[in-house]
Amino acid sequence: MNAELVSLAKQFHLSVLTGGKFSSSYEDSEVCILEVLRAEATAREKRAIAERKKQARLPTSKNFEEFDTDFQKCVTREQLDTLETLDWVDQVFNLVLIGPPGTGKTHLALAIGNKAVERGYKVFFSSMDTLMHILKTREISVKSASRVRWINKCDLVIIDEVGYLPISKTEANMFFSFISALYETTSVVITSNKGFSGWAEILGDAVLATALLDRLTHKCQVLNLEGEGWRLSHREQIF
Ligand code: ADP
Ligand code: MG
Repeated sequence: MNAELVSLAKQFHLSVLTGGKFSSSYEDSEVCILEVLRAEATAREKRAIAERKKQARLPTSKNFEEFDTDFQKCVTREQLDTLETLDWVDQVFNLVLIGPPGTGKTHLALAIGNKAVERGYKVFFSSMDTLMHILKTREISVKSASRVRWINKCDLVIIDEVGYLPISKTEANMFFSFISALYETTSVVITSNKGFSGWAEILGDAVLATALLDRLTHKCQVLNLEGEGWRLSHREQIF
């Protein structure tokens, strides 16, 4: 039997074909079956991509090409190229993007998320605020429970805007447990307007912040973005 046919039959668990007992009185039956299985494989792959895209919850599409490294000088094109390879996701590195508003943190996080979805990784993107809501309601909301199930399957989890809104003691503990559970299994990208020295204040607990940073930064790249901010220098007006 044709090698591709055998491989597709295995993929779809078609024991009739893989068992070697299949015979047909039709001429070219293998060609026909191969065509059907190919079509099925393509359709399944399309559905899988659509599902991954939907589950990733990326709010907008950004890419690396549109990121202007003349404007944001704290990151080089070479560094962006390295990030774009996503090898660091395979190696379970974390990435923390720190900087004031408009310096391109979310843009880069989204570009990474988009690329990862395209390449077949399972991704979840969420603001810190939404993540807290999901974690708090996981026991009582079907939607939140389903989000958590997806997160547990992910290769890459992106949390945007850590430190913008104050969080409670319970939320800080939840966030710590969340990061701990992903440790060494899932790449985490975090964007924040505060450097690590401000994380004790974000979490309201210096001991918890130290323990969290210990896990997060064990295998981690920190990118400090600086500057005036894109929005300020590219302000648009109606009149
Ligand atoms: P931050 O998350 O750091 O507050 P964003 O990434 O949301 O900032 O950037 C604000 C806007 O400016 C977005 O529309 C983003 O695409 C754009 N932007 C920021 N930095 C750059 C850059 N270096 N090159 C191109 N666009 C940028
Ligand atoms: Mg942002």
